[in-house]
Amino acid sequence: MTASSPALPSNLLGATPQEVETVLRELNEPAFRAKQVVEWTFAKRAASIDAMSNLPKQLRQALSEKFVTRSMSIAMVTGSADTTRKFLLKLRDGRFVETVLIPANPALYGGKSDRRTLCVSSQVGCAYDCKFCASGLAGFSRNLTAAEIVEQIVQVEAHAGERVDNLVFMGMGEPLANFTNLTRAIEVLNAEWGIGIGARHMTVSTSGLAPQIKKLADFPLQIRLAISLHGASDDVRDQIMPVNKKYRLAELFEALQYWRAKRKQHITLEYILIEGVNDGLDQARLLAKRARSIEAKVNLIPYNTVEGLPWNRPSEPQQDAFRDVLTNAGVTATLRREKGHDIAAACGQLRLKQETELGIIESPVPGKRITIGAGA
Ligand code: SAH
Repeated sequence: MTASSPALPSNLLGATPQEVETVLRELNEPAFRAKQVVEWTFAKRAASIDAMSNLPKQLRQALSEKFVTRSMSIAMVTGSADTTRKFLLKLRDGRFVETVLIPANPALYGGKSDRRTLCVSSQVGCAYDCKFCASGLAGFSRNLTAAEIVEQIVQVEAHAGERVDNLVFMGMGEPLANFTNLTRAIEVLNAEWGIGIGARHMTVSTSGLAPQIKKLADFPLQIRLAISLHGASDDVRDQIMPVNKKYRLAELFEALQYWRAKRKQHITLEYILIEGVNDGLDQARLLAKRARSIEAKVNLIPYNTVEGLPWNRPSEPQQDAFRDVLTNAGVTATLRREKGHDIAAACGQLRLKQETELGIIESPVPGKRITIGAGA
């Protein structure tokens, strides 16, 4: 075995104009050709190199050997245009990720009511093993490339026939564990020559990777940050989020202070309410204290049941009581319980079903009964 197989063509949706220029210079093409290629890729959304009709045929051929402009296809769409639509996307290697389009999303992340928010994935599977989450049930497979992150938006916009205004990195995966590809994708998504979504309309959500939060604070684009907190004390958080054993709350909040010092936007603390696990009013009081310490907003999300997992959402009076503790402590807190708006809850479940049915992964559910502390 001497000859190695040729590299797969790379996807232009993850390339910068400089990289395109370099390739075209090597092909002895004038500079304006690079500009045309970038325009075709992003502004005109060419579905293939061949569709770049004002490029000479020979050049299109040469480029086709190196590049593609699509590397995934829509395998399934569920939901309807006026509610949440879930897209199951099939990747070049046969794996699947999910993307969820939410039409109007008033209270979230500074968005206005006419905004369309897309919840994108950053990895196939997830290594962080949060006990309540469908995405991690089958473990971690791989990082998405920058192009695969960007293409989720391109695919959904083409299918829906409308532009996406807001992005939340709350789909499958831990975005900060895929830092290089994530930040490259954000640059492309934000750029004028790229997709053109304002940095303030992108929210990165993390389970709490403290060092990477600091690194992201030094990233020049003014994106927003959301933290999946789900527990206001180490003992409660330890039970449901193994990442808390690595980065304790004190270290996480130190990183959030660092973020605050660098940025004007408020951080959002995400808090799923799970009955008997983290919904006690003592946790609400601690959460209020933590939120105030970094001037964060709090999003309360009643738990969305996942097949095979034992968790439930608390009663509505209990949800209200939890929120009231925060509000009375002067913390801006929203309680989202409208159907279809439970963004992230949607993510991961479709893909799990699809990959299990196709035999790509083993069903994680039968063997995996999760038991934790009192009341669960
Ligand atoms: N790994 C990142 C981003 C993906 S998860 C993170 O942890 O933030 C996106 C959000 O969905 C997280 O807040 C996660 O805790 C939440 N989530 C996962 N499963 C859920 C469920 N069954 N119901 C409600 N929210 C859920």
